[in-house]
Amino acid sequence: MLKVANLSKEYRYKNMIKKAVDNVSFSVKEGEFIGIMGTSGSGKTTLLNAISTINPYYEGKVIIDGVDISTLNDNDISEFRKNKIGYIFQEYNLLDTLTIRENIALPLLIDGKSIKCFENEITKISRDLNIEGILDKYPYQTSGGQQQRTACARALITRPNIIFADEPTGALDTKMTTSLLKTLKFMNSNYNKTIVMVTHDSYAASFCDRILLMEDGHIDKKVVKHNDTQRDFFNRIISNSLQFDGYINQKDDLS
Ligand code: ADP
Ligand code: MG
Repeated sequence: MLKVANLSKEYRYKNMIKKAVDNVSFSVKEGEFIGIMGTSGSGKTTLLNAISTINPYYEGKVIIDGVDISTLNDNDISEFRKNKIGYIFQEYNLLDTLTIRENIALPLLIDGKSIKCFENEITKISRDLNIEGILDKYPYQTSGGQQQRTACARALITRPNIIFADEPTGALDTKMTTSLLKTLKFMNSNYNKTIVMVTHDSYAASFCDRILLMEDGHIDKKVVKHNDTQRDFFNRIISNSLQFDGYINQKDDLS
């Protein structure tokens, strides 16, 4: 479903060069739920923006569903994005002046489609994501968790092949975090969506099938769930990511 080969991306400012993503390669199979985990500044967002076509300026290759993104022009990329990719961000990016129903349908409205033709689909998705009761409310009348599930519904409405999520639980409290992660897992299992989620949080990562650990722009380590319980997987993620938590590397500096 997704193939990333030797991807690098650097930022230049003044006379400094920062290599935010450094020669990263990995593949994601259809139906997988992948986590990219690393501390703040490790390059996760830069990597996600590159592989999800948001920022298609990088070295290396990204192939989504058999299409080499570098062969597409700007028009083709936005068409491809619209039809094949769903996005969920930390900020829910809902429009305040639209109802929840209209926010879910937003990608269709932008595409000039009539919301009426999609009523059944909106009903089904909103029932599945437990936001059926708030369809005619405005975002400010709903909770953060409901808003984030609305963002999930919006990511599903165009029937994308793959969904990218950048720290989707970053603005949620612990209860809403669990509910959102279960929703993502549900979208993965019941809608058979391939999901690539960026997170700095081991608990969020434990909902995935496989974790790529990112540090200083590299991915050198992965942790696979196999048949583990979520708790055992969580413990393995923690022990594998502990070395990134500073205190292991810097414990000699402690006074
Ligand atoms: P993460 O999402 O893991 O926190 P980012 O991908 O946002 O990491 O950032 C990786 C590195 O690149 C950081 O050192 C950050 O300061 C730097 N960086 C990110 N965006 C820019 C930019 N637009 N210009 C310059 N440096 C950037
Ligand atoms: Mg980030």
